Amino acid sequence: MPIYEYECKECKNSFSKLVIKQDTKVECPNCKSDNVEKKMSKISSLSSGNTSTASCGSSGFS
Ligand SMILES: [Zn+2]
Repeated sequence: MPIYEYECKECKNSFSKLVIKQDTKVECPNCKSDNVEKKMSKISSLSSGNTSTASCGSSGFS
């Protein structure tokens, strides 16, 4: 189930909400306003440029 990030335009509160249906009415948990904006935090493909540090495994091994 997708969890989306929202930001309230009334009090600038950022919160995450579990959205079961796309037409779920989301309101700010802080001020109960429905004037919220969905933030695109769902990143589909971010595989490139992944810095992996699994090449050198000589940590604390004497
Ligand atoms: Zn709010």
